Amino acid sequence: MEKRDYYEVLGVEKSASASEIKKAYRKLVKKYHPDTNKESDAEEKFKEVQEAYEILSDDSKRSAYDDYGHAGTAGFSSGSSGGYSDFGAGGAPFDMGDIFSTFFGGDTGSGFGFDFGAGSGSASNAGSNIRYRIRLKFEEAMKGGEYKIKITREQACEKCDGSGSKDGKQKVCPVCGGSGQEQQVRNTFLGQMAVMSRCSKCYGKGSIVDDPCGECKGSGIGTKEEEMDIKVPAGAYDGMVLRFRGGGNVGRNGGTTGDLYVEIEVESSYEFERRGNDIYSETSIPVYTGVLGGVITISTIFEDVKLKIPKGTQSGTIFKIKSKGAHILGSEKGRGDHYVRVNIDIPVRLSRKEKKLWEELANS
Ligand SMILES: [Zn+2]
Ligand SMILES: [Zn+2]
Repeated sequence: MEKRDYYEVLGVEKSASASEIKKAYRKLVKKYHPDTNKESDAEEKFKEVQEAYEILSDDSKRSAYDDYGHAGTAGFSSGSSGGYSDFGAGGAPFDMGDIFSTFFGGDTGSGFGFDFGAGSGSASNAGSNIRYRIRLKFEEAMKGGEYKIKITREQACEKCDGSGSKDGKQKVCPVCGGSGQEQQVRNTFLGQMAVMSRCSKCYGKGSIVDDPCGECKGSGIGTKEEEMDIKVPAGAYDGMVLRFRGGGNVGRNGGTTGDLYVEIEVESSYEFERRGNDIYSETSIPVYTGVLGGVITISTIFEDVKLKIPKGTQSGTIFKIKSKGAHILGSEKGRGDHYVRVNIDIPVRLSRKEKKLWEELANS
């Protein structure tokens, strides 16, 4: 069945305000509700009204529909994976895996284990996360690739190799006597309570360095500016957050290393507009190509594509070029589609000969 115009479905003008649209929707939903309306096509009409309202009540969907008709709302399909609903700031970070195994063959390089010290109290030994923002051109985000970023990270002190000690010697912690636990008295609403907690001096290790490293004052941690390689997946979108495990600050006493979160900002393109995984563009063709048909060249995000224009093509016709849209994240080869709106160029200046030909056409 041919899809009806959404404005027609709701019985409103194209210029209708948001409140007029809402009013029309409420009236029709009541009218076609399958519980009250027993006509055979009531359910279908009810669904049609709901779909029309879903698009026209949302400013960005409505303007997409105004510009491109039903094709313009294809990328908005609600609930589909990779659809518009997954986009925008605040989405779950896209897990890129362990930053070291991705780029350095799994060697963490400095000898501090990630799982060491797991268990009670280890959370506060964990290194903190680092956030970084990267700005990409539209084409770069479509292609994806490797980028070098410079970040300042807390990592194992280079001088003492993370041990915190000048000579490698340790001594029993004077605060906890080697137990790693410290008794603290806390005031609670039940009165004073003695609680055992991780020793604040040795962070639960039970020993401290005998002669602290001069560089890190015994903490074993130094701060260093570091260049890192990060991989941006093809089809990355504006507001997307990539998570690189182990790319954050190093933990204390073998605590887990934090993660690196890279937020991606994508510049908009003059030529292309992205909606979901679909790409939209416009092009103009000479009036005779519209009348007689022909083959034109369309720029898509990665390559030029030949498009057959059938004879009698009207200005504003939208053509779908399959699988030439953005890469669908998390899918190996899947891509959205490219929609091109073809406008017809009406010649403004005519040569004398052209004018004569048009006149002949007009009088024929
Ligand atoms: Zn201690
Ligand atoms: Zn040190």
